[in-house]
Amino acid sequence: MSIYITGHKNPDTDSICSAIGYAALKGEGYAAGRLGELNPETQFVLNHFGVDAPTLLGNMAGQEIILVDHNEAAQSADGIEEAKILEIVDHHKIGGIKTSEPIMFCNMPLGCTATIVTMLYKHEHKMPEAKIAGVLCSAILSDTLAFRSPTCTETDKIIALQLAEIAGIADVEAYAKEMFVAGSELGSKTEKEILYLDFKKFESGNTTFGVGQVTSMSGEELQELKPRMQQYMEQSFAEHGADMLFLMLTDIMDESTDLIYCGEGAKEAVDKAFTSDAADRTYLKGCMSRKKQVVPQLTDALK
Ligand code: MG
Ligand code: MG
Ligand code: MG
Repeated sequence: MSIYITGHKNPDTDSICSAIGYAALKGEGYAAGRLGELNPETQFVLNHFGVDAPTLLGNMAGQEIILVDHNEAAQSADGIEEAKILEIVDHHKIGGIKTSEPIMFCNMPLGCTATIVTMLYKHEHKMPEAKIAGVLCSAILSDTLAFRSPTCTETDKIIALQLAEIAGIADVEAYAKEMFVAGSELGSKTEKEILYLDFKKFESGNTTFGVGQVTSMSGEELQELKPRMQQYMEQSFAEHGADMLFLMLTDIMDESTDLIYCGEGAKEAVDKAFTSDAADRTYLKGCMSRKKQVVPQLTDALK
């Protein structure tokens, strides 16, 4: 039986591709897992490079597991408290998972877990084969919004370009656009599916808040989506198990985010957290990163 390597629930491209890449490095006895359905962007990436989707995992109690792209129990597999975590490779804030023994815990403030996974290849004087390089490169392009996000570092960029070369991606920007367009095929999706495409829960004080993010190459598409999602979030509010809901509508080309929200106190939190000059206080120019530009600000505002 394999030891599974998995990213977070509501997996994004980094969670899936870093698990695949790290499982390939670890070799025999290890396999990539996932904690949810593939989003359309990730589906595009796996199809493009001809890589199989990881195994869908259930309750992991009693099993050995390696976590990538997350380190918080709330974002991890069911039964994680009773699982044995062997390693963590991540690029998020440290969130409170406890272990009973020392483990390999590699957390770096870089733009993407796939960058760190590639550094672990280099550490063993290896580089991934072409299709694995392709999925790792895609994860970096996804998490850094093709190097536009403020979370992107020089290291992410250098490694992504090295991976692109191995994978035979001739024009990285053109490939990234193709991937983003495939990823924002929202046409047939329900409001609920859109909210949960990339959704995470956080806590501050006694408040639990959920923050979703939709990224698109088309500002027009986002503006059409805005009233639809606002209405849906208000109507369905009770079923999401959070005190407040936020949804980032991130326009990749404009390098901005329109933030919509609902729940008691959410408006006050937004007013306190963000100092946008725009008449509509929720248009955040330059804001593209949930992890760096939204969650810490909301967490502080809610304390
Ligand atoms: Mg992620
Ligand atoms: Mg990531
Ligand atoms: Mg992400």
